[in-house]
Amino acid sequence: MRGSAPLHSLRERFAPLQSLARFVHDGFSGKDRPVNIKLLFCITAVNSPEKGALTESRIQDLMILVTRYFIHADLDAFYASVEQLDNADYRGKPVIVGGLPGDRRTVVSTASYEARSYGVHSAMPIARACELCPQGVFLRGNMKRYKEKSREVMGIFSEFTPDLRQISIDEAFLDITGTEGLFGPPAELARKLKSAVRERTGLTVSVGLASNKYVAKIASGMSKPDGCFVVEKGGEENFMRSLPVDRIWGAGRKAQEKFKKYGYKTCDDIYKISEQRLCSVFGKAFGIFLYRAVRGQAAASFDDIRGSRSISAEHTFDYDMYDGFAVETALMKICNTLMYRLLDLDWQSRTVFIKIRYEDFSTESAQETSEHPVGTMSDLFERVCALFHRKCKRGIGIRLIGAGLMNLETAGSSAGELFEFEDERKKKLEKCIHEINKKFPEAAIKKARLI
Ligand SMILES: [Mg+2]
Repeated sequence: MRGSAPLHSLRERFAPLQSLARFVHDGFSGKDRPVNIKLLFCITAVNSPEKGALTESRIQDLMILVTRYFIHADLDAFYASVEQLDNADYRGKPVIVGGLPGDRRTVVSTASYEARSYGVHSAMPIARACELCPQGVFLRGNMKRYKEKSREVMGIFSEFTPDLRQISIDEAFLDITGTEGLFGPPAELARKLKSAVRERTGLTVSVGLASNKYVAKIASGMSKPDGCFVVEKGGEENFMRSLPVDRIWGAGRKAQEKFKKYGYKTCDDIYKISEQRLCSVFGKAFGIFLYRAVRGQAAASFDDIRGSRSISAEHTFDYDMYDGFAVETALMKICNTLMYRLLDLDWQSRTVFIKIRYEDFSTESAQETSEHPVGTMSDLFERVCALFHRKCKRGIGIRLIGAGLMNLETAGSSAGELFEFEDERKKKLEKCIHEINKKFPEAAIKKARLI
């Protein structure tokens, strides 16, 4: 099953689950780009005789049959490398981007590997970097140029998978599940990706490859600079257990201090502790997170709030978030997802809930039931935002935001839901957009704020 298969034959091929798994595993080419497997499932859902039988949760079940592969790609000493690329004079010299000697209150944002050998590292005050490396090339940096290079690199990444998630200016996750037919085995793809970036942009990228994003992210850090670290499927736990605790992604300064206090030096030390004990020492949410992290399992998901029948979605920020507008935008994206799932399931709900996890991992949730079921995306968004603003503690960074609908019931089952005319129109429009997006995922109609 390679090359481009006509879409009309998909239904036959999808019939038995095994062949579906094999199909996805072997990879499949659309025109000249790999086709996202989720998208393939959606096509099947639309084409299948019992339309709608493939729901989101069904898709999740099917995905388990397939070995997932994720790459975390991280450019090496990005700002400094761009400067060395643009200025031949800087090559081979310790380049420190962040500020000039004498600039007050500035810190190093990136140090080239030459500068790192003097002990200079990011987040260090420029004054200290001057002491350690007086002969360094100090630069204030040129964000416009870095963004331009970042776009070039992300463009290359997107040639390898449509399922690309950029998490900062120089890092991204690539879901490369099911691309073997196009690029060969995952490790081969990783090599191709590295050389494409080097040849076309002159930059080096470190790559981690694993069966989940969490382990891939840690693996890329092990391969710096210019490396490729592969954690084989089944080897995630041993890999994690071999690491010191400061490699745990998501365990910040406070957690590290606690590890020290309790004498935990390696992930293996934490591995030996029961989940219950971890929860009592670190709090429930972070305890569960640690328990899973040292086992190389994907980060914890939304399982601590559960209604009888509910749907939910959440978003983890790359940095602790203080910006209310950005949180609202994330909430809008979540509401979008939830509303489409609700339409798909043909359910309705009168109860919305939110979950906020702060930088210190403390988590709170709130819910509200109103007289009328949620009618439209904007209705849901308004309710969720109102809850958020009532509940949110000001001045503390937000790490994760989630929202959901609970006590779901079959659409039309509750009496007295009278939508205003405007709401009915909006509802129809949303339903229509949803149908279009399902049939033509490439078109991806979205609210302007989410682009
Ligand atoms: Mg980097």
